[in-house]
Amino acid sequence: MTATAFVHLVQLFRGTGAVLRFSGAPNECPACGRQGEPRRLVAHSTSPDDEMVEFAFQCPRAPCRRLFVGEYGRAAGGAYQPLAVAAPSFGTEAAGHASPWQVGGWRPGA
Ligand SMILES: [Zn+2]
Repeated sequence: MTATAFVHLVQLFRGTGAVLRFSGAPNECPACGRQGEPRRLVAHSTSPDDEMVEFAFQCPRAPCRRLFVGEYGRAAGGAYQPLAVAAPSFGTEAAGHASPWQVGGWRPGA
């Protein structure tokens, strides 16, 4: 994580918006493992007390551009601190299972 704090609009658990302070953004993409300042996309509270926020980022590198999510928790003083970061895996775990996208017969690229 970078040490550069920033503020960003967050949709709170009950749907209203608030500008909240974050202690930093991930400085490494969990999909490609390369360094870079990610694009800040959207952030939503994931707990009724707004103590937890999930923040969607995008890798800035053209060969990657994957989306990933940072999990933040509210710390004393009100700023949100990073707890974890992860990219979704669409790899081999889906092989052999019916994807919800395939239920109606649709296939990617078809
Ligand atoms: Zn990347």
